[in-house]
Amino acid sequence: MFENLSDKLDRAFKVLKGQGTITEINVAETMKEIRKALLDADVNYKTAKAFTDDVKQKALGNNVLTAISPGQLLTKLMNDELAELMGGTTAELELKASPTVILIAGLNGAGKTTFTGKLANYLKTQKNKKPLLVADDIYRPAAIDQLEVLAGQIGAAVYANRESTDPIAIAKEGVAYAKQHGYNVVIIDTAGRLSIDEALMVEIEQVKAAVNPQEILFVVDSMTGQDAVNTAKVFNDRLDFTGVVLTKLDGDTRGGAALSIKSVVNKPIKFIGTGEKMEAIDVFHPDRMASRILGMGDVVSLVERAQQQFDEKEAAELQKKIRKNKFDFNDFYSQIQQIKKMGNMKDLMGMIPGVGKMMKDVEIGDDAFKNVEAIIQSMTPHEKANPDTINQSRRNRIAAGSGTKMEEVNRLIKQFEDMRKVMKQMSNPAAMASMMKRMP
Ligand code: GDP
Repeated sequence: MFENLSDKLDRAFKVLKGQGTITEINVAETMKEIRKALLDADVNYKTAKAFTDDVKQKALGNNVLTAISPGQLLTKLMNDELAELMGGTTAELELKASPTVILIAGLNGAGKTTFTGKLANYLKTQKNKKPLLVADDIYRPAAIDQLEVLAGQIGAAVYANRESTDPIAIAKEGVAYAKQHGYNVVIIDTAGRLSIDEALMVEIEQVKAAVNPQEILFVVDSMTGQDAVNTAKVFNDRLDFTGVVLTKLDGDTRGGAALSIKSVVNKPIKFIGTGEKMEAIDVFHPDRMASRILGMGDVVSLVERAQQQFDEKEAAELQKKIRKNKFDFNDFYSQIQQIKKMGNMKDLMGMIPGVGKMMKDVEIGDDAFKNVEAIIQSMTPHEKANPDTINQSRRNRIAAGSGTKMEEVNRLIKQFEDMRKVMKQMSNPAAMASMMKRMP
């Protein structure tokens, strides 16, 4: 995410890092570089200029602060200002009404339907809500199917009316259905168009008037850069939406949309989409995003993601197994699945301070665990549950079955055994204490 921008800002900072004091000249030079980096990231010119003017003024005004170096001062200033540029504080969804009606708007392909599913999943798992999804795109029959498939994956209900050609009526029916059946959030997935089109705007204005939504979220593809910002402006003029959803931030977007949209439409970014999976949704935190852009990592989000996947009952079971030395390949496999659910590996690594920069040229795809999974899947149920019985001839068979090399199978089993040993020791307080005593 935003690797190029992070890189260029880092280089711009170098101008100041070697300097003992902040002067008019070295700040001007640094700001020129920062402005260039922002423009390259597709931030619009006015925003980039206002931003650098602001940082410059503050940097010069802060010259009296001699306790920190100019480089540190600039990092701190940039962090605050970038966060401010993206909205300052986290903007929460307004969920008090029951049912809360959320209208989803945007162009075709922006990621509306995917986001509708993700939002329902988020509300169900993180906010303890009972959402109803309303399929209000009557122009593409496949859109209803797509929403039903996504809803099926996350166990959410859908309201659709395949006979109707009236999106205003369907939206109203959806809300009425939610009231009758005890759903407390209604998410209406509306139709898009390839580009802005008067008929679409009128239709969505009418849907808005008919259901009176508490939230109107405008979904936009961050890869489209300045176009995203322009589209947002048109939708906002017509709909006065309550928030923006930036999708596809997992791709190699340059970041311009994230950085300019707030200053152009003055509406907060509420969520970001970071992948195609239903779990790939994050509440947008301007301060954390600023730290990520500056290569300072985002440990808070990393810990939160881990917590979301954490099931206390399961963890207690696991601990019991470890204590009895019964942790087996089935458990190992399910742990891998949990890590994978946390999201894209490279994205996760990027949240660790300093690691993002280090990893920028390393390709880690979703198949980082592919071979390990294949090896475990090629084991028989007996082998998975009894790792000690996997002898040489079984290893041969597993390597052939999983299409991996014998050395890979040996390495995995060795690592697994080492891991089990350490786990066992850590779960036994007496052994742990004696281990600590032996440490130098
Ligand atoms: P809609 O026409 O606005 O409803 O867009 P869709 O929800 O059908 O999404 C269009 C395409 O973008 C689909 O292939 C989605 O899987 C993909 N997509 C949506 N959100 C994201 C995201 O955050 N990251 C990535 N990589 N792909 C996404």
